[in-house]
Amino acid sequence: MKDVYILAIETSCDETSMAIVKNGKKVEALTILTQMDTHANYGGVVPEIASRMHTENITLVLEETLKKFSKKIEEIDAIAVTYAPGLLGSLLVGVECAKTLSLVYNKPLIAVNHTMGHIYANNIDNDIKYPSLALIVSGGHTDLLILNSPDNMEILGSTIDDSVGEVFDKVARVLNMPYPGGPNIEKAAGKGKNSYELPKPMMDETYNFSYSGLKSYMINLVHNETQRNHKININDLACSFQITAVEELTRKVEKALKNTGIKNFILAGGVSANNYLRAEMQKICEKYNVEFHVPNILYCTDNAAMIGCAAYPLFKARKFADFSLNAKSSENIKNYVEKNL
Ligand code: AMP
Ligand code: MG
Repeated sequence: MKDVYILAIETSCDETSMAIVKNGKKVEALTILTQMDTHANYGGVVPEIASRMHTENITLVLEETLKKFSKKIEEIDAIAVTYAPGLLGSLLVGVECAKTLSLVYNKPLIAVNHTMGHIYANNIDNDIKYPSLALIVSGGHTDLLILNSPDNMEILGSTIDDSVGEVFDKVARVLNMPYPGGPNIEKAAGKGKNSYELPKPMMDETYNFSYSGLKSYMINLVHNETQRNHKININDLACSFQITAVEELTRKVEKALKNTGIKNFILAGGVSANNYLRAEMQKICEKYNVEFHVPNILYCTDNAAMIGCAAYPLFKARKFADFSLNAKSSENIKNYVEKNL
């Protein structure tokens, strides 16, 4: 069978990334240009700056990616792009670039949901096994789903308010740590001990998550202690926060593994770069004799390789987009699954 090469584009937030992926598995070329240092000056991503920087960088990233590819652009079989969810102006830059390449080189266009990309990062140099339980934890998502087969997924639960990554970032900000907060919280937590009593997020019977209560509690605690001139032990507070935030995830994952009997677990999304989270999930998997899968750290945060992987089953099913394709700032993964799979 002929090899399939997909050129993928990802611009949903503050990374301009392109990749060429062979057969939905092998990364032939990958470029990630992050704007993190610029946004760090503002304590978070500034959407207008993000889209302007994507516009400035996208042709450079294309050139760089093609340089790394051993074949000619004409040998690429399709152009894939993240069209949702994300920052609208940022997504638009990627979508317009994809449409242009598709038109100029006469290649089919494939529209990919960013969250599906995070799941498919687990297919890189690997095979997603079915059925799998998947937890997606990122700056925009906290979703627990069952992957029954490549075209059959069900959502067990999602966050009802903030995503876990967002809360790591907000808590880091109130503790005066630079953006992005997650890795800085992890670093501080590694030096601290669990000495703060924090509220347990969502002690209910569903598979949903909730982080707004923990976030408000953390912000209020820091403000109150500061106003009273009390010293905060930042490392200890980061440690207690990380444990509480992760416990919310492990509790629901454990319940799902117990209730479904599924023997494969996939962790995906930017927060899965967190070593404490990885270790806790690993422990639960060992307890239930479940295979634990997490992408290489390079493919955990936003990158176009994962988009090229997620595009492959759509290519095989000839599910192509036309030039009416538009960016969408939000798209529930449930709607995407129902519409596309
Ligand atoms: P994504 O939305 O998939 O690009 O992931 C970005 C999110 O992952 C941001 O909210 C980061 O703070 C978070 N993140 C990245 N590394 C870590 C880490 N080591 N610990 C916790 N959160 C992290
Ligand atoms: Mg992401």
